Amino acid sequence: MNILFATTEAVPFCKTGGLGDVCGSLPRELAKLGHQPTLILPAFRQVFESGLRLEPTEVVFQVPIGQKRVQGQFLRSQLPGTDIPVYFVEQSDYYDRPALYDEGGEEYRDNCERFTFFCRAVLEAIVNLDLGTDLLHCHDWCTGLIPAYLKTLYNDRSPFDQIASVYTIHNLAYQGNFWHWDMVLTGIDWKYFNWRQMEFYGNLNFMKTGISFADTVSTVSPTYAQEIMRPPLSCGLEGSLQHRREDLFGILNGADYNDWNPATDAFLGENRYDAGNFETGKAACKAALQEELGLPINADVPLLAAVGRLADQKGFDLIARVMQQWVNQSDSQWAILGTGDPKYHRVLGQMAAENPQKMAVRLEFSNELAHRIEAGADMFLMPSQYEPCGLNQLYSLKYGTVPIVRSTGGLADTVVNTTPDSIADGTATGFAFGEYTSLALSEAIARACELYDDKPKWQQLIRTGMQQDWSWRRSAGQYVELYERTCAKAQQEVLS
Ligand code: ADP
Repeated sequence: MNILFATTEAVPFCKTGGLGDVCGSLPRELAKLGHQPTLILPAFRQVFESGLRLEPTEVVFQVPIGQKRVQGQFLRSQLPGTDIPVYFVEQSDYYDRPALYDEGGEEYRDNCERFTFFCRAVLEAIVNLDLGTDLLHCHDWCTGLIPAYLKTLYNDRSPFDQIASVYTIHNLAYQGNFWHWDMVLTGIDWKYFNWRQMEFYGNLNFMKTGISFADTVSTVSPTYAQEIMRPPLSCGLEGSLQHRREDLFGILNGADYNDWNPATDAFLGENRYDAGNFETGKAACKAALQEELGLPINADVPLLAAVGRLADQKGFDLIARVMQQWVNQSDSQWAILGTGDPKYHRVLGQMAAENPQKMAVRLEFSNELAHRIEAGADMFLMPSQYEPCGLNQLYSLKYGTVPIVRSTGGLADTVVNTTPDSIADGTATGFAFGEYTSLALSEAIARACELYDDKPKWQQLIRTGMQQDWSWRRSAGQYVELYERTCAKAQQEVLS
């Protein structure tokens, strides 16, 4: 099957979060299964800065955006190490900017226009580059208009009338909600601006549009698929999602073990390790990390870590609170890596400055350091308010860094809480708690620290985690089933 991934992120070209990991990995697995994936993304500045080779295609196109006609052109590259084509939509006024979506906490004011253009460019690419697409796999709000274009402006033309669409929700909280006059930019008839399709409390909503028009909808874990059916995690879209209940699927993301594997990780130098010899390898990684972060080198104190977007969603308010308590009351070390909301930059930066012997906070995006933290830490915190899937807990399991998670979304689907029973039957892989409170997080950390002092049990926990297989192989098979089901459904609709 010829599958076109329309996305705004794909590793190693550009990434702000898990979406980039998914779109850089899933196509590789689909290719291994005999399918022909292709990717298309905006040519953001990050893409040029990635240092990867981009070639011009000489294909220039124009589309109407409101009253204007806007020109763009396509560049071509490949997913490194494969022959999977990756196309980029070059339009420097829209995409040659310091960030992808926002700067300093402020969204770009013309985001509706920027991503309307991208959605139309994807459809132009299908014909102008002769991509032979059978199915369009669209990701998150930025691509939400594509399924609508397929069913409206472009539906009476070949090849569009034959193309099926899957729309995947990676995070329902980011919806692309714009004032109603932006409908004019899309060129789509006002009759679709109604509460069942594109309109959301008087605004134009890209996420709702994708959910309403795609042949099938998926999200990135079975638990999140259930959670988004009702408030609060439905973020107001429970009506749309319940309407699509029969066509909504939850498929867990996988981890890319080519990138995230302590046995082969180039960022670990000589300290690589696997499930068979992790005791020495992990100890060496911990010492190296302590040195790199300027923390005292000490094998015995637990080193707790968190890596991620500094957003409310990720529970950094809870982390900041418990970190201060634990540092005051115990011998523990803390490593935080993240960028995002300025309020967390302020609070975390100040705490680290006041506690340099126990806390290291790096307010930056560093893939290398993220790898070394996964390897060198003892415990990894993910007290998320919600978590569609989450990748860091999968990496943590693989690196023998025990995850402490709030039981929500993909965290609930992938981490087995430590209880006397799960320790006894050898299934425990981490610590989970329910209430979104600093007390509940602190209790989970206390349980973890207690087991940390019981070395045989702690090592069993690490070993069980490292032996889990959360690779893309399993999930890619489920996506193929979804693609087949989607094509069959689209075909049936064409015939009826
Ligand atoms: P989300 O997509 O909600 O941000 P995920 O857990 O699905 O969360 O994916 C986050 C990805 O981004 C992981 O690969 C994580 O290591 C990476 N990441 C997030 N923040 C940083 C950072 N500051 N430096 C390096 N990597 C980061």
